[in-house]
Amino acid sequence: MNILTFGPNGSGKGTQGSLVKQKYNLAHIESGGIFREHIGGGTELGKKAKAYIDRGDLVPDDITIPMVLETLKTKGQGGWLLDGFPRNTVQAQKLWEALQAEGIKLDYVIEILLPREIAKNRIMGRRICKNDPNHPNNIFIDAIKPNGDKCRVCGGDLSARSDDQDEAAIGKRHDIYYDTNTGTLAAAYFYKDLAAKGVTKYIELDGEGAINDIKDKLLAQLA
Ligand code: AMP
Repeated sequence: MNILTFGPNGSGKGTQGSLVKQKYNLAHIESGGIFREHIGGGTELGKKAKAYIDRGDLVPDDITIPMVLETLKTKGQGGWLLDGFPRNTVQAQKLWEALQAEGIKLDYVIEILLPREIAKNRIMGRRICKNDPNHPNNIFIDAIKPNGDKCRVCGGDLSARSDDQDEAAIGKRHDIYYDTNTGTLAAAYFYKDLAAKGVTKYIELDGEGAINDIKDKLLAQLA
């Protein structure tokens, strides 16, 4: 099974993606993660990409597109869930052309919908437990509100990640995501149009619900 996922930063896309990946035993291919590996390994590609990533800009398509297509070929043979790519209409078209050229079926495209203001609050409300970063705490989400200023799971001290409090950086990333002309939502709609022609399936999920409800709705739609 081959799946594309779309959702703004703060929508729970990563969480839902991991659940789906585990259930169907898919390679989880994250463009941001591939860049981070290259930067960590000090490769030429990593050096080129770093300046863009540090600024919160997209890495140019002539670097990103071949890198992702190559990873799909090498790691995605048994099915993949692609996360973070495509992020604009050029990437969406190139991916589609590559899939067609290789005879690879795109089974599902998932879009998690979340209004921009709520996505921003979710990011800014995230709190990290000093004992375990996976303990969910968010001052703006009722289901996972901390106990006062302590972790709701273990009572540990909480702190906020500095990049989660950087409104300018969050704004820049959301500008790219919510751009319906050439940005990430435009890329999602490129696939929505293809789904209307019956060549793939497009699943829309309301990202405002609880993680488990979204997961149940999602899994019910993946055959
Ligand atoms: P992410 O972990 O998905 O938030 O990605 C981290 C950074 O990697 C982004 O802010 C971009 O600079 C870069 N990046 C990831 N995916 C792409 C993409 N599809 N196109 C261009 N740049 C990307």
